[in-house]
Amino acid sequence: MPRLLTPPEIDWREDGTPVARAHDDVYFTAGDGLAESRAVFLTGCGLPDAWQGREVFTVAETGFGTGLNFLALWQMWETHRPSPTARLHFVSFEAFPLLPEDAVRALDSWPELEELAALMIARWPGPAKGVRRMVWPDSGVSLTLHHGDIRETLPAARFRADAWFLDGFSPAKNEEMWGDWIYPQLSAHSAPGSRLGTFTVAGAVRRGLAEAGFDVSRQPGHGRKRERLEATLATPLPLPSDPYASSPATPGLRRVAIIGAGIAGAGAARALVDAGADVTVFERAENPASGASGNPLALLMPRLDAADTVQARLLVDAYIAARDTYRGLPGVTETDVRQVPKDQTETDRFTKLLADPPLPLEDLEALRGGLLHKQALILRPAELIPALLAGATLRLGESVKVDLESRAVNGEVFDAIILATAMATMDQLPWLGLEARLGQVEWIGDAAMAEPDAVTSGTYALADGPDRLWGATFKRFGGGVPETSERARVENAEGLENLSPWWVRDTREHEIVSRAALRATTADRLPLIGAVPDHDAALALFDGVRKGRPADADAPVIPGIYMVNGFGARGFTWGPWAGGILAAQLLGGPAPAEAAALAAVSPMRLILRALKRGEA
Ligand code: SAM
Repeated sequence: MPRLLTPPEIDWREDGTPVARAHDDVYFTAGDGLAESRAVFLTGCGLPDAWQGREVFTVAETGFGTGLNFLALWQMWETHRPSPTARLHFVSFEAFPLLPEDAVRALDSWPELEELAALMIARWPGPAKGVRRMVWPDSGVSLTLHHGDIRETLPAARFRADAWFLDGFSPAKNEEMWGDWIYPQLSAHSAPGSRLGTFTVAGAVRRGLAEAGFDVSRQPGHGRKRERLEATLATPLPLPSDPYASSPATPGLRRVAIIGAGIAGAGAARALVDAGADVTVFERAENPASGASGNPLALLMPRLDAADTVQARLLVDAYIAARDTYRGLPGVTETDVRQVPKDQTETDRFTKLLADPPLPLEDLEALRGGLLHKQALILRPAELIPALLAGATLRLGESVKVDLESRAVNGEVFDAIILATAMATMDQLPWLGLEARLGQVEWIGDAAMAEPDAVTSGTYALADGPDRLWGATFKRFGGGVPETSERARVENAEGLENLSPWWVRDTREHEIVSRAALRATTADRLPLIGAVPDHDAALALFDGVRKGRPADADAPVIPGIYMVNGFGARGFTWGPWAGGILAAQLLGGPAPAEAAALAAVSPMRLILRALKRGEA
């Protein structure tokens, strides 16, 4: 399957009913679609009664289509939200995402949904494969969309639904979706007692559900349909083991301390505040963004791989999450980025990836042997990071003492603590083996006014208004205090000459300020996001992994302690995506990443890998 999904071709019947040409089936019947959605799915799943007493409730759906079911549910939530702190999560799957204009046209029949539809359409995702997450904090609603064929994306998704809407065209017209494979997957992704509603009473569906542990009953159908199905999960499957510690914590965590107010801490704070947590951020410096995130300008652009691997996908997911989060915040300017290949390997990579691009033309074009990244962002961290921290209590400029065992920060006990302290985390968890890299950039703050512009080829150069910034170095660091150096300045000057000779004049006429900071880096260049393992207990428990046995137990963790680290030179890419993962792990709800991605960034991977290689 290509990395860009194809929008469906839609035929519009006279009454406005949208029909997917490829499947020769309707999304819903115009006029009656909303009433049918309510009867089949909302009533079918016992809503809104099933929300009573629930702080977190997850609804999953097969086939997102126009989002009509989602909007019907959201509208009901607006009047029946069980408490002001309660959260509703909606997870859906889509292989042929509609163009936003088609979704608008389809939803046009229901003025009563207009306001919510506008909120949804404003965040309508593009056609890239992967996991998209949208949050509407005021309503306490999140939408997690898995873009790709459901036969791949449902097994890879990480969530447990309390209710299921089985949509997805009729079984006769869409055998892929309704094949025997799906029923055990529905059960595996359901909480005990979860409810399910669908419009079809096809025998294969009833049998499949029953064999997967659901109690199935036929109910009087809506409109001209004679019957519909309701089902309840009576015999849930046992929970699979969790060697990467990526399952959500026990619900009820509210008070969360985050240590560190760089982009890692700020990304986590934003996602947790939006998910309803009471967040306190501790930072020993006087101001946020004082470490590696504190350059005057930063660039958010995608890192694109040629092959469709887990790592390539999570980089795209993280980029899109970051861009969606930052857009519209202070200190954020859209720009095109010209990326010139730095060597033959990169030229080959660009050629391959353009043959199966992971981002659509609105974001990515070929440019004379290189790439043009459109809608990338130039960021001013001094403005952006405080905006991300809004809603959290800030405790700046005080020394911070964390006791992992008692979950206390300066003596105050929290439900959970997130360590976002870059290299300083090594004092407490030396087994992480983080490596410090010294990154130096050069900056001019009083050049002639320029439109936003960015060019990169290994190093990068940015212009925005009177600012120019170029660099950065990425050097092993021997220890001591990070300092700027003349050598790094010369290296950066050479980089600039290569990237943008016409900017070099500015470097002679204006004062250049150098800035150096340490970046915490992992050996595999992926971040560390998630629960902090109990290292010694994990080594003992997974001892068999040394001898090639599988890691098939729950990872032992330090209760309530999480981390976000190892951002390397890509801090602004990882921050919001990492925050979303942590929010789901701490507060419950679907993970905004596929299971393999969660494993790839989990701190536990370091321990399991070391055991496999005989290095632990
Ligand atoms: N729930 C939708 C709504 O509220 O508008 C209507 C869903 S429509 C009947 C079925 C949806 O399933 C379509 O959007 C279709 O593209 C999607 N679909 C069909 N086959 C799929 C597959 N193999 N993987 C993922 N989605 C699929």
